[in-house]
Amino acid sequence: MAAVAQAVSLLSRESSRLFPCPTIPYRMYIKKQRLLTPGPTPLLPAALHAMMGSDIHHRTEDFRNLYRQVLADLKEVLGTSNDVLTLVASGSGGLEAATQNFFSPGDETLVCCAGKFGERWVEIMKAWGMKATVLKARYGDVVAPAAVEAALAANPNLKGVFVQASETSTGAAHDVKAMGEIVKKTKAIFVVDAITGIGTMPLDIDGWGLDIIVGGSQKAFMIPPGLAFVAISPKAWALAETSTAPRFYFDLKKEKKNAVNGESAWTPNTALLLALGEALKYIKNLGMDKLVANAEILARATRAAVTELGLVIFSSSPGSSVTAVRPPAGMDSGVIVKEFRNRFNAIITNGQGSMKGEIFRIAHLGYFDFHDLFALIAELELILTANGYPVKFGSGVAAVQNVYAEVAMPQAVLAGTNR
Ligand SMILES: *Cc1c(COP(=O)(O)O)cnc(C)c1O
Repeated sequence: MAAVAQAVSLLSRESSRLFPCPTIPYRMYIKKQRLLTPGPTPLLPAALHAMMGSDIHHRTEDFRNLYRQVLADLKEVLGTSNDVLTLVASGSGGLEAATQNFFSPGDETLVCCAGKFGERWVEIMKAWGMKATVLKARYGDVVAPAAVEAALAANPNLKGVFVQASETSTGAAHDVKAMGEIVKKTKAIFVVDAITGIGTMPLDIDGWGLDIIVGGSQKAFMIPPGLAFVAISPKAWALAETSTAPRFYFDLKKEKKNAVNGESAWTPNTALLLALGEALKYIKNLGMDKLVANAEILARATRAAVTELGLVIFSSSPGSSVTAVRPPAGMDSGVIVKEFRNRFNAIITNGQGSMKGEIFRIAHLGYFDFHDLFALIAELELILTANGYPVKFGSGVAAVQNVYAEVAMPQAVLAGTNR
């Protein structure tokens, strides 16, 4: 009994440290940690388990078989006949490689900038001495394809157009199909940061003329951070022939030469490639279109729920990788983020930069399901109510249920309900 009493007192001490609220005892002691951010994302268990087999050497046939399979599967799930290469880097390493291997200092480029990741393109341009014209959209908005068309018509020297398919910082999605069709008619190449676009929106790389697209492992691929993917069209390879930018580690031509033999130029991240192999198997089995539909449906249900709760979607062109939501007037979004962490051990994200405090972001990319969303919306209702913005319990959850019922239940069943 004494041991039990001691354990209880330890638990309450722990809980009072996390919840320093003297009047309301908090009795929910088990709280599983849930990673609900738009990168890193929840991990696919099979991929996580596969990482334990990483005691293999990268200059052996075992590795070559793995790498050949991963590169072939990447091409298949991306639906492209272009070369696809992997790099040991977070997504930004892929963005840098996509710049450094194709352009030269002094080149004129066009950057569509609609948030923090658009600003990253601008910084990369500056670092490599390129002259970027920036088409800037207000946070939450997007750059219109017509603006890209006008800028290309005004300056025939532009060698590249850079954009985010999905601007993760604001939850906005660009119309890369329309942009691709415009850029295709010029000598410029179209470079798309699709790091959260892949797996959350249709992307016809070959059909739309997406000359270079960059992906990252910790987004819809359901594995930890540390790998970047770059798909490269023949038009982009032709431009690479003229590039004079210095390079050593991120040398895509060298990677391509090695990939033909099932090897990477440098020591690869064997653990992550094993994980990727499993994740790609899972995605192939499911179908890339189904992975996209999954994110789209969760995003739709999220928009319905937060709207029902009286909250406002931040972006005028919301995509399906992440939904950015404004908190109720007068409430700092950091309160909501902190409450998710403290009350439910759930990790969601605040806004970045000047959007900090202004938005919170709910992710849908990769290994997310309705179960995650039901819990998240139910918790959001409790958090809003606990912080001076009372909502009708269950009203947001019902909005999610309605979307679920609509997409996953036969009409005959629904006809008899009083939803
Ligand atoms: C996550 C992300 C990146 C890459 O960030 P890293 O931290 O380098 O992986 C780049 N662009 C977008 C749109 C992203 O969401």
